[in-house]
Amino acid sequence: MLNRTPFLIILSVLFLASCGERPIVQTSETITATDSDSLSNLPTGADIEAMLHEHVAILASDEFEGRAPATAGEEKTISYLMEQFEALGIAPGNNGSYFQSVDVTEITTSNNPVLQIQGNSYEASFNYGEQMMAGTQHQIPAISVQDSEMVFVGYGIVAPERNWNDYEGINVTDKTVVILVNDPGYATQDPSLFNGNAMTYYGRWTYKYEEAARQGAAAALIVHETGPAGYGWEVVSNSWSGPQIGLTSSNLNDDLTDIEGWLTLDSAEALFAGADLNYQELKTAAAQPGFTAVEMSDLKVSVSIENAVRTSTSQNVIAAIPGATRPEESIIYTAHWDHLGINPDMEGDNIFNGASDNATGTAGLLALAYLHSQQAPVDRSIVFLAVTAEESGLLGSQWYAENPVYPISTTVANINIDNMNTIGRMQDVVVVGARSSELENYLEQAAQSQGRYIKSEPTPERGYYYRSDHFNFAKVGIPALYAESGEDHIEFGLEYGASQAQDYTDNRYHAASDEYDPDWDLSGAAEDISLYFNIVNTLAQETNYPAWFEGNEFKAIRDSTASQR
Ligand SMILES: [Zn+2]
Repeated sequence: MLNRTPFLIILSVLFLASCGERPIVQTSETITATDSDSLSNLPTGADIEAMLHEHVAILASDEFEGRAPATAGEEKTISYLMEQFEALGIAPGNNGSYFQSVDVTEITTSNNPVLQIQGNSYEASFNYGEQMMAGTQHQIPAISVQDSEMVFVGYGIVAPERNWNDYEGINVTDKTVVILVNDPGYATQDPSLFNGNAMTYYGRWTYKYEEAARQGAAAALIVHETGPAGYGWEVVSNSWSGPQIGLTSSNLNDDLTDIEGWLTLDSAEALFAGADLNYQELKTAAAQPGFTAVEMSDLKVSVSIENAVRTSTSQNVIAAIPGATRPEESIIYTAHWDHLGINPDMEGDNIFNGASDNATGTAGLLALAYLHSQQAPVDRSIVFLAVTAEESGLLGSQWYAENPVYPISTTVANINIDNMNTIGRMQDVVVVGARSSELENYLEQAAQSQGRYIKSEPTPERGYYYRSDHFNFAKVGIPALYAESGEDHIEFGLEYGASQAQDYTDNRYHAASDEYDPDWDLSGAAEDISLYFNIVNTLAQETNYPAWFEGNEFKAIRDSTASQR
């Protein structure tokens, strides 16, 4: 077992050596690194790259069948991960087990529901797929809403820290609420409202359904608009049809609204006109402080849904290096091991290998496990959590957050890896959900020591911070960092990096063509691994608990658990 100090040093040195002409910030520690004998068997940047190539090639092979939860592909994946942790001598992370069972339920709408609207002087039937989408999270074969009164609740937000309550003074019990997508900050582009252009969690559709359920509504319908949603209607209609997987709920999700759905903009405008209301005018009013909800005249909505319901079990994989002095305090790395599996209806290559998404991140988790296993245990515990069912709605991480193995209050931070860079080293590190927590200060320091700079994501209005596993940690208050290689390529510049990223989005994202290529340049991914490693090693040797920045929507819940430490 090696002393940790020389190891940190060699990592700095190896990236210094591979930096070429670029100047790099050196600490005095780096200069004193000398004992080459004890360092001779440590990995180089090239070793980390080789390690990543090896793991990705296996995880993204056809043999692993696209790693869908509860399939033969899962069996292969989780066995592989367990074997790797075992080989590194890293202990099981869940009370003696490498696994945490995640019970999931699949609901498939089996009828062709119609949204019926009835008023004294207006009636309409909106079709499934083209004019509306409707579904339920209730894990039962049939559910319906009959003659439910409709209320327009603006953005459907209750944000005490922003003195904002769209449900103030109204009772929506058993009613159907109609809600705008995104938040007033985006709508007005006013930086003093919410986070201005950047989406807050209040802008995510998941939040809007959660809040509607807390308010006792029978149904919640969100009005889709491409700009504020960040994607077109076809994303809504495609992703809401077919099997919907959720965590198996002991109350079958009885506490959620009976119906969750979406209206196209055309349907919404017709509906508002039918209630003698002007959609565009109300939308503008809803973005202003002091907006009050509006009853939609005498309109009543009815919809019936039939479901095929199927339950299954998948696994999170969890390994940990217990802290030497404060094992109850932990830092958790996450990467989702799952991807989309096989589409039997597709001709030709129908295996969704998910090489980039997220065999790379899973490989990164294993590389980090390797690096941490090569040094003496540090003060705090370091946890490696490969979660399942991210692609089905961040379910494995949700399950973990609701059933934590390591206490929430003493979980110092979460670092999430989803899609690593495959095109070489970048000068920049992009922070998704920038200006959230003090973890960004650690990131900045670690990036600087690599001669890199940090910047915020280019499209914060799309709410990517709420779209991978770290978000479930944030939701329970744990500061969570999602940062990755940017687009400022060290040799070919920004334009090249951006065009490569666009090429991935257009041609490989969630497609069968997301395949492993032995020609990938994983030097940038290796550099990111070193970046995460250095952040976590810093956190693991201090007593500080990094905090959310003032005004962040997750600060209150973190503050409320701090007393349990
Ligand atoms: Zn992913």
